[in-house]
Amino acid sequence: MKDIILTGDRPTGRLHLGHLVGSLKQRVELQNSGKYEQIFIEIADAQATTDNSGNIQKVKDNVIEVALDYLSCGIDPKKSTIFLQSEVPELSDLTFYYMNLVTFSRLKRNPTVKQEIEYRGFNNSIPVGFMTYPISQAADITGFNANIVPVGDDQLPMIEQTREIVRTFNRLYGEVLVEPHAVLPKNEFCKRLPGIDGNAKMSKSLGNCIYLADTKEEVEKKVMSMFTDPNHVKVSDPGKTEGNPVFIYLEAFCKDEHFEKYFKNEETKELEYKNLDELKAHYERGGLGDMKVKRFLNFVLQDTLEPIRKRRCELENNIPEVYQILFDGSDKARNIVADTLGKVKKAMGLDYRNDKDFITKQAEKYSSNS
Ligand code: ATP
Ligand code: MG
Repeated sequence: MKDIILTGDRPTGRLHLGHLVGSLKQRVELQNSGKYEQIFIEIADAQATTDNSGNIQKVKDNVIEVALDYLSCGIDPKKSTIFLQSEVPELSDLTFYYMNLVTFSRLKRNPTVKQEIEYRGFNNSIPVGFMTYPISQAADITGFNANIVPVGDDQLPMIEQTREIVRTFNRLYGEVLVEPHAVLPKNEFCKRLPGIDGNAKMSKSLGNCIYLADTKEEVEKKVMSMFTDPNHVKVSDPGKTEGNPVFIYLEAFCKDEHFEKYFKNEETKELEYKNLDELKAHYERGGLGDMKVKRFLNFVLQDTLEPIRKRRCELENNIPEVYQILFDGSDKARNIVADTLGKVKKAMGLDYRNDKDFITKQAEKYSSNS
């Protein structure tokens, strides 16, 4: 079977470190491995309207931000198709038919949706479109016959929902849809990167992010203000590294070469810490201050973000070309989803125009009546 990848992001803000480690890095690796038949990357603007109906301008403005972030992280439009969800209306048709294959109580049980409803403070005023967005994600995935979906772990319930829809559809109407699998980052700490405020998830909607496009100064300021272990008051106090976002970020981003670069004594050539385990051990037994760890994290993040920032600066001079990449990608995406929609409608028996036999039989039925 051909391996096809579908993944995407909501244009509700610029992309952040969580996206980088949770999904973007993997996409670039998969793209450059050359092992995949096709890679589709969706800017999910239509989905983003489900919780931003009063602020469509925000969604519209962030489309280019997400596109710039993709390209500056190494997504190559020659190898991956980047497209706009709203430019592929056939996805809405698929969503409509899939809606009948899912119960309302099943939607309400989705743990990610439940948590998002709480974060967004919807209470009882939940937009219907928002409740059904996992179904529209099933349309996004199956529309491209994707079998691989690289995501952070908050998306696992969506992939499970998609798999259920596929199984139900295929059982009722015949084997048409492909059942997808999620691909999570290998590094445990990257599956759900926490926010700088210590919240379990860095998320655009929670405003607790370090953005890929933040300036050097903004990154430094955010790192220095990060939540750490609240009981680590004095430098001499023993500290907790587990659940401490500063250490989680180090787990996600630092490499042994960073210790070589930033913890080497120039005179003795000795390393103060050889690796993260040594740094963690010192913090846990006491005697290592937050400031020193944060300064190190800042260097590590600046090293990671500097090349991305540089590429973004160059791309910002070519905005119309970036939009053209999206339009070309959307045209290509639309052809593929139209083909899937055709197969879906045919399997359901809704392709009247191509069903000559059906029209002939109807004609016979009515002529025998007369
Ligand atoms: P929003 O708050 O608008 O939902 P978001 O920050 O959750 O935005 P999405 O566009 O919903 O971002 O997510 C896009 C992809 O990035 C998904 O695959 C998701 O799993 C992944 N992702 C988002 N935040 C994180 C995170 N903190 N850690 C790891 N992966 C993440
Ligand atoms: Mg999200």
